[in-house]
Amino acid sequence: MKNEFKAIVINNIDNTYTAALQTITTDLLPNNNIELDVLFSTLNYKDGLAITGKGPVVRTFPMIPGIDLVGKITKTTSNEFQNGQLVLLNGFGVGEKHLGGLAQKASLNSEWLIPLPVKLSPKQAMQIGTAGYTAMLSIIALEKQGITPDSGDVLVTGANGGVGSFAVYLLNLLGYSVVAATGRLEQTDYLKELGAKQVIHRDELSTPGKALAKERFAAAIDSVGSHTLANICASLKYGGVVTACGLAQGMDLPASVAPFILRGISLMGIDSVMRPKSDRVEAWQRLAELVESSYLDKISTEISLPDVIEAANNLMAGTIRGRVVVNCQ
Ligand code: NDP
Repeated sequence: MKNEFKAIVINNIDNTYTAALQTITTDLLPNNNIELDVLFSTLNYKDGLAITGKGPVVRTFPMIPGIDLVGKITKTTSNEFQNGQLVLLNGFGVGEKHLGGLAQKASLNSEWLIPLPVKLSPKQAMQIGTAGYTAMLSIIALEKQGITPDSGDVLVTGANGGVGSFAVYLLNLLGYSVVAATGRLEQTDYLKELGAKQVIHRDELSTPGKALAKERFAAAIDSVGSHTLANICASLKYGGVVTACGLAQGMDLPASVAPFILRGISLMGIDSVMRPKSDRVEAWQRLAELVESSYLDKISTEISLPDVIEAANNLMAGTIRGRVVVNCQ
């Protein structure tokens, strides 16, 4: 039937958490001002948590996961977008409290959408996804604080992760000298291929350290938090800047004010989820201009909706490297 479509549907009935590919009808979609065919989505760590139920990501049931999508508009009452237009969504609680992108169709609020940059295909935008977009937001934050390639070494933590690997790649393209911190030193060659000048073990940063350490980095992009972020603050050069977007090590920040008041360092918080539209457009425009399609093909694999549940389990088991894009049609 015409109004039927396929979607990954998560339910929690009588404390039994399930996720399955189902055929549902469009009358189950909310009545937002944009309806679209989802062309591509992607599997982020957050989607893995939602699908497997391993983290409290989903806030209402039934839920369609998928925090990122590119779609083609089929129905609109918004003045901002036209039928047939390609649009991009990251975050805004989609796939958490609003039905998300791992489906053939979605109904979304035009406030959440930006036009797909002309230089990117729907698939390329999802190869980049929230990971690449968050890395770009972090770099823009450093630039706005006056960091340039001449400032000195830029540290990237969680370097083999989604955000970290994009940060290494993009910083190198922009001419920065990148130091990558990782727990997987066996991936040193890969990180150097991405653009790291030097690779260090994350243990150098992950245990309690001094309030002020040797001035080492001009700037840093951190997706790890906890002692790592505290040690980064202690190791920044005078006037240095660190961005914080993640909590892979922990949500705590056992830091001292010493580097802030003695070395004038800055800590910039990065949120991608509720980011204003103008910042999204700027970050995606920069990504469209910078990212090479050969890189995207190297770091990602393509799957279809029927493969999503198995891929989410593999993602949570840590057996997937790189980005997973989902062809939703
Ligand atoms: P990934 O799981 O892809 O990467 C996280 C990386 O962190 C791992 O690959 C690992 O890198 C490192 N890591 C893992 N555990 C530890 C640990 N105990 N101590 C130190 N390092 C560790 O996640 P993403 O890159 O997608 O996301 C990274 C973080 O950023 C997450 O916390 C995520 O929730 C957050 N995030 C926040 C966003 C925002 O809007 N603020 C948007 C996107 C993500 P390695 O193997 O190299 O050591």
